[in-house]
Amino acid sequence: MKIICIGRNYVEHIKELNSDRPDEPIVFLKPDTSILLDKNPFFIPDFSNDVHHEVEVIIKINRLGKHIDEKFAHKYYDEIGLGIDFTARDVQRELKEKGLPWEKSKAFDGASVVSRTFIKKDKLGDFNNIDFQLFKNGKLQQDGNTRLMIWKIDELISYVSKYFTLKIGDLIFTGTPAGVSKVVENDELKGVLAGEELFSIRVK
Ligand code: ZN
Repeated sequence: MKIICIGRNYVEHIKELNSDRPDEPIVFLKPDTSILLDKNPFFIPDFSNDVHHEVEVIIKINRLGKHIDEKFAHKYYDEIGLGIDFTARDVQRELKEKGLPWEKSKAFDGASVVSRTFIKKDKLGDFNNIDFQLFKNGKLQQDGNTRLMIWKIDELISYVSKYFTLKIGDLIFTGTPAGVSKVVENDELKGVLAGEELFSIRVK
């Protein structure tokens, strides 16, 4: 399986990082070795002093597809989960400045938190209006809603399937809203989607 991630998909997050609003979705991949399932500890890697959490809605692909038309995209997933795209911001900044790929800052072991529970689409109602939050040590740190995405879920599926064949079990991380921050040892990160707690991760 593969993990496809979307960068800069929320306006307020683009502003907080002083990034430019892209004309097309920014796409990058992570290997399956980066997956960290809920309840496992996250270890800050020794090559970074500035690891940020990015809470993101995750789409799980349930059909094989390529060149998917946007109007059929909803047939390619029926579950939505929540995760964290951990980012070594200091490493990423350096790579960006040099125009190099981001993988070392985002694809390392443990960098992709994935909830064990995914919620069925039909339980969620309008999936372009789903609230989700990240709580850090009990305090609300990121407060998002899928309606704030620049490119919506179906647009993203259509877009990425022009480049990559989507396979059953592939995950799409759909970008983070504002409120990213540095994690330190002993932080507790809780993710909530549509009022349901989907993950709880301790930083080590
Ligand atoms: Zn991200």
